[in-house]
Amino acid sequence: MSYPADPNQTPPAAHAPQGPWLQGLNAPQREAVTSLDGPLLVLSGAGTGKTRVLTARLAQLVATRKAAPWNILAVTFTNKAAREMKARILQLVGPMAEQVMLGTFHSIAARMLRRHAELVGLKSDFTILDSDDQLRLLKQLLDAEQIDPKRWPARMLAGIIGGFKDRGLVPAKVTPAEASDFANGRAAELYGLYQARLKTLNAVDFGDLLLHMLTIFREHDDILRDYRSRLTYIMVDEYQDTNVAQYLWLRLLADGHQNLCCVGDDDQSIYGWRGAEVGNILRFESDYPGAKTVRLEENYRSTGHILSAASAVISHNEQRLGKTLYTSDAQGELLRVSGYWDGQEEARTLSSTIEGLMRDGADLNQIAVLVRAGFQTREIEERFLAIGLPYKVVGTRFYERAEIRDAMAYLRLINQPADDLAFERIINTPKRGLGTASLQQIYHLARSTQTPLLAAAGALADSDELRAQARRALADFCQQIAGWYQQKDTLPPSEFAQIVLDEAGYTGMWQADKSPDAPGRLENLKELIAAMENFDTLGGFLEHISLVMDNEASSDEGEVSLMTLHAAKGLEFDSVFLPGWEEGVFPSQRSLDENGGAGLEEERRLAYVGITRARKKVYISFTANRRIHGLWQSSIPSRFIAELPAEHIEEDMAQGLGLGRAEPVMLGDIGGRVGKPGYGPGWGRMAERQISSPRNSHTDAPQRDRDGWLPDKGRHNFEKGMRVFHQKFGMGSIELVDADKLEIAFDKAGLKKVVASFVTLPEEMD
Ligand code: ATP
Ligand code: MG
Repeated sequence: MSYPADPNQTPPAAHAPQGPWLQGLNAPQREAVTSLDGPLLVLSGAGTGKTRVLTARLAQLVATRKAAPWNILAVTFTNKAAREMKARILQLVGPMAEQVMLGTFHSIAARMLRRHAELVGLKSDFTILDSDDQLRLLKQLLDAEQIDPKRWPARMLAGIIGGFKDRGLVPAKVTPAEASDFANGRAAELYGLYQARLKTLNAVDFGDLLLHMLTIFREHDDILRDYRSRLTYIMVDEYQDTNVAQYLWLRLLADGHQNLCCVGDDDQSIYGWRGAEVGNILRFESDYPGAKTVRLEENYRSTGHILSAASAVISHNEQRLGKTLYTSDAQGELLRVSGYWDGQEEARTLSSTIEGLMRDGADLNQIAVLVRAGFQTREIEERFLAIGLPYKVVGTRFYERAEIRDAMAYLRLINQPADDLAFERIINTPKRGLGTASLQQIYHLARSTQTPLLAAAGALADSDELRAQARRALADFCQQIAGWYQQKDTLPPSEFAQIVLDEAGYTGMWQADKSPDAPGRLENLKELIAAMENFDTLGGFLEHISLVMDNEASSDEGEVSLMTLHAAKGLEFDSVFLPGWEEGVFPSQRSLDENGGAGLEEERRLAYVGITRARKKVYISFTANRRIHGLWQSSIPSRFIAELPAEHIEEDMAQGLGLGRAEPVMLGDIGGRVGKPGYGPGWGRMAERQISSPRNSHTDAPQRDRDGWLPDKGRHNFEKGMRVFHQKFGMGSIELVDADKLEIAFDKAGLKKVVASFVTLPEEMD
């Protein structure tokens, strides 16, 4: 037996076609695992062992010496899944598992691209830009091209370019029909400029990883042939969520040997909004004539009730192949469907149910809370933090999200004007036209006078040190902060926060943003404001946040997982909580508005994915009242609840809220009934804490700062008539002294207001 390529490696020692990986497999699973040559599709429902089949098949390939580990390419959907598969294979075939090319599309393409970077004009040490860097670059580009970023935001362009890349289109291949109307039809041109700019920077974005490899394969036949002869067996998990670029990349690699095994489930295609094409899996048999298709029908994950309920929901979709699924497992417990008064009650009951499971010996790692939209985690996280229940968020914790940090920075700065970190975060967010030079002036002055940045900004705004535009921007900003400072204790915190974010232009910034993540960020901001309703003062709220953020419980008992339904694909847990099943939240109104019937079907697939993550217990809930987009709304239970057959669920309407009978609630009712329950003693009454500024607490002996300035430089006893020197305006005579401000008649520049610390006496000049 000979192996293609890589002569430096030793082939596997044992010939073990009956290895442990085959034990316990059912007949069709075994068939998939042992059909090693030619195209193979495993198309089947959730929990039927598709991922397990891939792992076993990998072991089988190595053990039967069909392929050496380095001949195998295995693509998983997440890096976590890749790690798990690697661990399993290490157990099955030993250290040779390290040689398998195993990972996500991105990680594998990145590895390949490092080897051939020069062929697309890059060096092998190219940088992979994150989305922030990418946006910064696009903003510069729009600026250089004099395209109004308000009308045509950089994020929107990022989305369009990402779409081209998902479809495998290099700039020259974008047809006018696909160019969209961005900047009056300039998207393709801007895409070209952006790619050129990336090249100069020796950088790529995520979409480039595959796109560049496609280009290399298309233009360098020898390289493609080399990969084909080396990677003789290819396997792909979650094939239903591949996009066009991934599809083309796989086709190029598999053409010739055609040893391509794809597994997936059309009912779990949930990334259509990100370019996934469920058509890829549906077309497999015609793309690869002679392909063998294996269907797995036995579900090994979930109890009978869970599986039947999930199957009933997904059967409402019209665009699907349809499958039979059964389990030999017991019927198990009915799915619990509960209605609550509002989100707080839902979060409270959810956490006490988890505490109950813990008392019964449950492992927290086996419990997940899956939500439709990111903003939904806030109430649940706060409840977990309040009762000290250890949890982890897959993705970013609510209060750590960028837009929440920005909003909090405004509130912190108003509450405590010496909060320099907050100042830095927001001084140019949204853009106020302050360049690096102006910002440096502020830092400089703050350092030399040992004042907070906000005070330094105020002083500069009142002088002629800066360009007129920057001066005006600073003056406006300082005035706004001062105005809000006066107002902060006169309004309820939530109302106040709304006003600040609106007046600051922060809400507007996200409203103008047409990128796919902007609506989610706006939802998060609304959720923040809703959270503030439970507090009497701004200080009390800020205190609460600094305490909860500090209170990360960690424990040996594991952690509850909190994540979106999208992030839960492929995973499994004993108990799964699915809160927020209300029309508008789930199915998401946005999805329905934008994609109509197809949007609804994708939402329903998400419901199917959610329910089928559970092995033993499912808890679905909805509330009668929900604050959505800042307004209390009486909500209607999700249509997906009505699609759950009665024989598989038990209703738990502790609050007398029957299914479909949620009573509308008057706004006036809310205050009385909701009040401030559930946050444990004293949450709304926390004493205001004065954050002392580090700058204020270091007023001892003057020391030179990092730039070698003496902090008290400039603190002269200036008097009218003194001759002084200013870096920008030159020599002049003091006309007026007003504390730290001077009016100086400069010999050349005329009469100017300047800040005292920017002026030196002639004898100090070096
Ligand atoms: P999903 O569609 O959610 O990705 P899947 O089809 O990939 O699911 P797996 O995750 O591979 O399913 O398997 C689901 C569960 O069933 C796992 O815990 C797995 O170990 C178990 N399982 C799979 N096949 C068998 C089998 N033949 N005997 C016992 N357990 C099995
Ligand atoms: Mg799987």
